[in-house]
Amino acid sequence: MAKKISYCAFCGRPESQHVGLFITGIGNVAICSDCVLRGAEMVKRNSFPISKSNSPNLTKNKLPRPVEIKEHLDQYVIGQEDAKKYLSVAVYNHYKRLIQGKSNDDVEIEKSNIIMVGATGTGKTLMAKTIAKKLHVPFTIVDATVLTEAGYVGEDIESLLTRLLQVADYNVQEAEKGIVFIDEIDKIARKSDNPSITRDVSGEGVQQGLLKLLEGSIVNVPPQGGRKHPEQQMIAVNTQNILFICGGAFDGIERKIAERMNTHVVGYNSIIENERIDRNNLMQYIAPQDLKSFGLIPEIIGRLPILTYLDPLDRTALQRILVEPKNSIIKQYKKLFKMDDIELVFEDEVLEYIVDKAIEFKLGARGLRSIVETIVVDQMYELPSKNEKKWLVTTDYAKSKLEKMNVNRMKTA
Ligand code: ADP
Repeated sequence: MAKKISYCAFCGRPESQHVGLFITGIGNVAICSDCVLRGAEMVKRNSFPISKSNSPNLTKNKLPRPVEIKEHLDQYVIGQEDAKKYLSVAVYNHYKRLIQGKSNDDVEIEKSNIIMVGATGTGKTLMAKTIAKKLHVPFTIVDATVLTEAGYVGEDIESLLTRLLQVADYNVQEAEKGIVFIDEIDKIARKSDNPSITRDVSGEGVQQGLLKLLEGSIVNVPPQGGRKHPEQQMIAVNTQNILFICGGAFDGIERKIAERMNTHVVGYNSIIENERIDRNNLMQYIAPQDLKSFGLIPEIIGRLPILTYLDPLDRTALQRILVEPKNSIIKQYKKLFKMDDIELVFEDEVLEYIVDKAIEFKLGARGLRSIVETIVVDQMYELPSKNEKKWLVTTDYAKSKLEKMNVNRMKTA
């Protein structure tokens, strides 16, 4: 019979002092449950298992062509033709560059990071997300404002990559082929056009840090995000092949565009040119120097060579967004009702009314969902318990629901 083991081989405490399990091993040794847990914690902190790659090989034959990428975008994103085309080509070139690897000749294809400028809620994030899904590469959205919100207490730049690592299951190789969407890049613009002598926490300092990531370098990423601390183990990530897509509303940049165009357009020819300018959508004329006037440093602009814009969404676009995309809001609600065997039908005027309200409350495309939700929520609550097979949403019904709603609550939706 085996001799009774009474001490933990790790902490040395006798069994009598433990309330948890005592696990015995070969050779009369034992470990207490406290030490098992502590050990597990250490393993978790110090090793980052490489999981199997989940992205299908990005090979030349399998890589979707720009037309195919754009067609895929068309299924989800309404309008924004220019941005879709630019994005499709840039992403295609980026992955071609990756597939090609090191070339024998001297021609080295440079990375084509992208910057998209357009009002909030016009589809920037949606587009980046849709592309990443199509390519099956790790994708993450990060907010540039977390770097500055609290000034020096904000997060370190490298933490932008933490989430990419997390979605790639800490598979560094996978993460290094991923896409990072940096939202609200305009929020780290320098506040004044003159470089400041003192360090500008909320602007230039952060931009300089970001530059390092964009241009491609090996950075140490804190696996859990936040600020770095000395004892933390870092993961080295090479950003050379990570595609960065930046997006920002750049509120007021139209003024800079107009100023530039007015000053540049001089002389007889310019009068004709001037007449052709579509003053309702100046964003389409955006040029790198406008980003500079807005407060991005030239080095950052240089690292974001693909500049494209998004159109503001007009009434027609909003109406199409409601019904046309593959997973449009209306299709989603119809599906939810269908699961209870109820056919959901909207009167045509209801759809127009929803769009009118989104415009009136200045909610844009983002508000469409909350408006529809407000209209249908009561019936979503009641109908599954009734024996009805169809529900026709009338304009009067929609109006009665929306009159009671709290617009401010929707704005945060
Ligand atoms: P942003 O430009 O601020 O990144 P988003 O892409 O996050 O805007 O858009 C918010 C939501 O509005 C999307 O999830 C989508 O439902 C809808 N949306 C915005 N623009 C479009 C569009 N062009 N086509 C289809 N849906 C859109």
